[in-house]
Amino acid sequence: MSFIDDYKLDEIKNEVEEVAYKELERQLSAISDEDICKCTDCVQDMACFALNQIKPRYTVSLLGSLFTRVETETLIKDIEKVVRESVEKISQNPLHSKS
Ligand SMILES: [Zn+2]
Repeated sequence: MSFIDDYKLDEIKNEVEEVAYKELERQLSAISDEDICKCTDCVQDMACFALNQIKPRYTVSLLGSLFTRVETETLIKDIEKVVRESVEKISQNPLHSKS
């Protein structure tokens, strides 16, 4: 048994990830496929770029959120803004060549 298994550290989740992925999906689905590249590399870049700007919120998933409703609403607004910026930035400067 490893330390991670002993203490079930894999039950710890970053709540921000789930919210950010949902928001990214929502925003990308509103943009036509012809307008921006939605390949795996670009979408992963968008997710990383957004997540790196948001302070993580780790919780043990089984215990539910440690955060208040107001904190969560503020977080969701921040995530919407950061995801929008990420989509713009990555789609204008993809790591691969533009096709
Ligand atoms: Zn791409």
